[in-house]
Amino acid sequence: MKTLATIAAELEGYDPQALRAGSVSEFLSRLVEPVTTRETTAIFQALGRVLADDVISPICVPPHDNSAMDGYAFDGGHLSTPAEDQPALTLRVVGTALAGSAWQGTVAAGECLKIMTGAVLPPGLDTVVPQEFVTERGASIIVPAGLLRAGDNRRKRGEDLMQGQPALHIGELLTPAALGLLASLGIAQVPVWRKLRVAYFSTGDEILSLGEAPREGAVFDSNRYTVFGLLSRLGCEVIDMGVVRDDPTLLEAAFTRASLEADAIITSGGVSVGEADYTKLMMKKLGDVAFWKIAMRPGRPMAVGRIGRSVLFGLPGNPVAVMVTFLAFVRPALLKMMGCTRQAPPMLKARSLKPLRKKPGRTEYQRGTVSSASDGSLWVKADDNQGSGVLSSMVRANGLIVLHHQQSDIAAGDELDVMMFDGVV
Ligand code: AMP
Ligand code: MG
Repeated sequence: MKTLATIAAELEGYDPQALRAGSVSEFLSRLVEPVTTRETTAIFQALGRVLADDVISPICVPPHDNSAMDGYAFDGGHLSTPAEDQPALTLRVVGTALAGSAWQGTVAAGECLKIMTGAVLPPGLDTVVPQEFVTERGASIIVPAGLLRAGDNRRKRGEDLMQGQPALHIGELLTPAALGLLASLGIAQVPVWRKLRVAYFSTGDEILSLGEAPREGAVFDSNRYTVFGLLSRLGCEVIDMGVVRDDPTLLEAAFTRASLEADAIITSGGVSVGEADYTKLMMKKLGDVAFWKIAMRPGRPMAVGRIGRSVLFGLPGNPVAVMVTFLAFVRPALLKMMGCTRQAPPMLKARSLKPLRKKPGRTEYQRGTVSSASDGSLWVKADDNQGSGVLSSMVRANGLIVLHHQQSDIAAGDELDVMMFDGVV
């Protein structure tokens, strides 16, 4: 476990008073360590978990050559002439092969087998003519000239997965597709890393818990719910610690409990300059914590470090700043702690529908909505209200436009990077 000072010394151009977004990511990836405890889980409980070992395919999928169509199977040797010289073929139908039971007879030259999708192709039959292309003539069919090549409409044994090959890799997030893949291999239990435990609380005397009577100057706590949602979707075990008042005894008790129970502690509020409160004081007293001003918008102030064995992410208070710093920095760090090998958020390129103001020297994350034009090109419309407290912009948007450190004003039509957050936010 490296101290903050060691990590800071390793980072080129580390300036806590004007930290670049890239340095934040680099710092955090050096600060956090993946969990090391494995457990086994049933497939129905495995969605969103992270694989703790490679999964080697115990079988071939599909296990047999089989038909991709409802039609007639025959020996592709009948098609040995080039397609343009191929005559129409007349083949006698000798039986029917259904999916789920292998057909036992033999098929001689000039014969074929009626076959259903998924039915095993008997030895010697490698080509299937779809039913809609043939003409039935009594007990025979006529395959039109020049239609097929040998091997058409055959699914080959092992074309999805070969026995003995890795089907899934350690560190992969188990998606619905991965669950299906595991099931296709007959695997009902998988090794996963233990869940990450993340404690969260909101700070600030102006923050009301739901159910409290509104009072002048106070606002309802929204960060607790966005962070709860973000953590839940990430597959973390969330320890909700509510709102903690600006009182040294209460804050000390909250940080101490969180550090005993959680792998990571997330707080919001109380980390900006000139905050006349005890949050920063308590972080400093109880842990090894750095206080940053990040060259970004929204979300300039952030505290990062360790309290006991827990990693601390002290996020700013503004509701959009919380979500942006979470998506840009905390989420990738938590994914690394979860043992997940893919930590970068999905990015795409889209053209800006309108000109945007941008000052070089900071990274801006603007809320935007990506949509595709009739020619398939992607366009992004930046939200009209980019205020760091305007949570409704996060609800309207489907991604964050990332305006990089050195970028300046954007013209309409310029191509921009967008961090998509559908399914995450
Ligand atoms: P701070 O970072 O503590 O200076 O807070 C910045 C702004 O975010 C202030 O307007 C706070 O009222 C607001 N804020 C802080 N925490 C929360 C919260 N949990 N829910 C909603 N707004 C908050
Ligand atoms: Mg405050």
